[in-house]
Amino acid sequence: MKDFTLENNLEGTHKFICKECSRETSHKIISSYCEHGHEDHGYGNTIAWMVKNQIIQCLGCEDVSFRISSTCSEDDDYDENGEHYYNETIKYYPSRFEGLKAINIYLLPDEVQSIYQETILAIENEQNILAGIGIRALIETICKDQKAEGKDLNQQINSLHEKSIVTKEGVDILHKLRVLGNKAAHEVQAHNKEQLSLAIQIIEHMLDGTYIIPHKVSRVLK
Ligand SMILES: [Zn+2]
Repeated sequence: MKDFTLENNLEGTHKFICKECSRETSHKIISSYCEHGHEDHGYGNTIAWMVKNQIIQCLGCEDVSFRISSTCSEDDDYDENGEHYYNETIKYYPSRFEGLKAINIYLLPDEVQSIYQETILAIENEQNILAGIGIRALIETICKDQKAEGKDLNQQINSLHEKSIVTKEGVDILHKLRVLGNKAAHEVQAHNKEQLSLAIQIIEHMLDGTYIIPHKVSRVLK
């Protein structure tokens, strides 16, 4: 059994992740098309489910996107106050990932730019193995672009420090990301969202220092 309800211009605001703002912002729900139903599994066991298909709008940047929230009576729990709730599975279109910095990719060299964009897409779409491989490829491409010396990535990362492109602490972190990328590429090991989020933040910091800030300095402080 299945039913549909349509609600427009819902009252109130909600905290959702905005792709443009790269963080959680207040949104309004412009329209919500709700599918709900239940299935009888016999012996008095009924499973109820609900899928809300929503058109949402960020109240900051006014970007409009799509959000799907699904719940099922089989997936429930109690919070610390003993309050009963259903776990919500949420998907956004276009997909998004909280905390990614919107860096100006047009200031990056072409090769770095395309690998960076694909790696971000992999993270946003939870393609975690590909994201890990992308992070390694990004480090390799930056090393190549910065003419890092050495026969392998290990030596090339060390040479970035000798060229004063990366600090001593930065080198240690890059080696950790190199190992993470190796595990993704050679052992087909997926990393979790938290690891990938931190890895890309570190890379963005490096891209900022290596390409974006020097460009701004040459433009503003002539
Ligand atoms: Zn926004």
